[in-house]
Amino acid sequence: MGRRMETRPVWTVTLLTIFPEMFPGPLGQSLAGRALAEGVWALETVDIRAFARDKHRSVDDAPFGGGAGMVMRPDVIGQAILASHKGGPLIYLTPRGRLLDQERVRALAREPRVTILCGRFEGVDQRVLDAHGAEEVSLGDFVLSGGEPAALAMMDAVVRLLPGVVGKEASLAEESFEWGLLEYPHYTRPQEWQGRGVPEILLSGHHEKVRAWRRRQAEEVTRQRRPDLWSRYVADDSRKED
Ligand code: SAH
Repeated sequence: MGRRMETRPVWTVTLLTIFPEMFPGPLGQSLAGRALAEGVWALETVDIRAFARDKHRSVDDAPFGGGAGMVMRPDVIGQAILASHKGGPLIYLTPRGRLLDQERVRALAREPRVTILCGRFEGVDQRVLDAHGAEEVSLGDFVLSGGEPAALAMMDAVVRLLPGVVGKEASLAEESFEWGLLEYPHYTRPQEWQGRGVPEILLSGHHEKVRAWRRRQAEEVTRQRRPDLWSRYVADDSRKED
């Protein structure tokens, strides 16, 4: 404890949700949890339901045009945004959004404040997203039941980049996507496990050769698994030289 006592958080996230009790959830544990307790980052939850006007506190209604499910109302969401968005990116998590990547995560870590709107039901009325210029972000090509787990994952990715949260800065620098590649494979003790050894080169103590081997491995796995990343990497000459 007390490695670093912040007077002011370097990153403040505001969450608009109908389930504020889901936060900080897993981010109250481990490295992110310690950083939260130390005040490196701060979390505010805003209960969308507090902005509902009727006696049932409803935040959703049936979709115009028909169909299954309910849609979050623009008047309720709009009031919640007006009351809590104090500048910085306003992100709406949705499968219709632009895919989140490490580059966007790095940029979000440099923003002092980020506001995240967590959808539920079929999602949010498009007009309120348009009116507030919300940035639509997706975690991947799959459908969650709500924006909260997506927000937790996105916040985790940001928080670990904040200064002092992850011990060795070097362990961040060599990770997947930092070179535009997936990461090389890892091995640790025991040196032999269930008849399987580890690649000889890693035992050589020859740092340059290890580095070159890891780079080749990273290139190989990226070429095989992620043709999309691979073609970008090959096209980017500046990266191949380092
Ligand atoms: N009807 C929507 C899915 C609604 S899922 C559709 O087909 O696109 C309910 C909520 O979960 C969404 O409003 C969104 O906030 C969240 N969500 C679901 N999948 C997500 C994903 N892949 N990325 C980010 N948020 C997601």
